[in-house]
Amino acid sequence: MFRTIKQTALQTLRGVGAFEAVSRSDWRRSRLLVLCYHGISLEDEHEWNAGLYIPQQLFERRMRFLRDNHYHILSLEEGLERVKRGDLPERSIAVTFDDGMYDFHAKAWPVVRKYDIPVTVYLTTYHCDFNRPIFRLTCSYVLWKMRHRKLDGRGWADLPAGMDLASPEARHHIMFTLDRHGKAKGMSGREKDGLLAELAERLGFDYGALLDKRILHVMNPEEVKEMALGGVDFQLHTHRHRTPVDAALFRREIDDNDKRLRELTGKKATHFCYPSGVYHSEFVVWLKQMGVTSATTCEAGFVTASSNWHLLPRMLDHMGVTDVEFEGWLTGLRAFLPWRKVVTRDPDQMSAVESV
Ligand SMILES: [Zn+2]
Repeated sequence: MFRTIKQTALQTLRGVGAFEAVSRSDWRRSRLLVLCYHGISLEDEHEWNAGLYIPQQLFERRMRFLRDNHYHILSLEEGLERVKRGDLPERSIAVTFDDGMYDFHAKAWPVVRKYDIPVTVYLTTYHCDFNRPIFRLTCSYVLWKMRHRKLDGRGWADLPAGMDLASPEARHHIMFTLDRHGKAKGMSGREKDGLLAELAERLGFDYGALLDKRILHVMNPEEVKEMALGGVDFQLHTHRHRTPVDAALFRREIDDNDKRLRELTGKKATHFCYPSGVYHSEFVVWLKQMGVTSATTCEAGFVTASSNWHLLPRMLDHMGVTDVEFEGWLTGLRAFLPWRKVVTRDPDQMSAVESV
């Protein structure tokens, strides 16, 4: 009901010229909208997780809309500099991707090049080097793909016999149990990968095909190097996709990430994105001490000169965002309407990559 009212209100506002008026206003001109994406489907990932994945056609429609309607698409670096200097061009946008999944290379990059879009990728480097499917996400995906089956877990990983995979709750329970089992046994990444292979085998799922297609993999080092040379801006997202609330461990995550990024891209990274959008006040202090110049969250909003530079909001685009809502955000008018804060969502659903 609320959703229908919201759509109708936005369409009416667009119809009377309010989108155009706000988008050309001084108010909008002093603001940068940072778009946030996670994954572009290689196959059907958006049907499995509509909060993280969108199909390539939708991503292309979004980028074409930006170009056709003369939005100023700036690199994150330039956008943030110009917010500070107070000389943003009209209708400024920056485009960011979290995690650095392989599907960015395969599906997003061709679109980014076609429309000449500057783009920042916040890369988690552990999974770039250990280039296997992301454990929990892949468990969830395999269980969803085989949702018409039953899983016989007898004698394996603390699971019972004959579990029906039809309900999301049952699938989540199995994923959680396997994850807990792996942690209790202190499994390495390689051993957890073996758990995934066994899950697939028990369900009759072709795990080899998933590996060949690189579904739910992060980009490998060669792909990162290639795209860095091609102009993609790679920035910090921690090495292992985790943010310990401990100064030394937190610093190690950033240092390891920065060191590996520098080896891959030849550049020092100074912009950061909180994994899963989760932050604590200590993180802001530690990031400043480490010389990190900006940090983005998954909370909805615009960047202004008075924003906290280490808690910058973004607009998370996903399958649930309609064309009129997307345009409402671009123009700025959406900021005047009520919205539910994205941060209230399950942190597991806020990122494609989990901590290791
Ligand atoms: Zn992430």
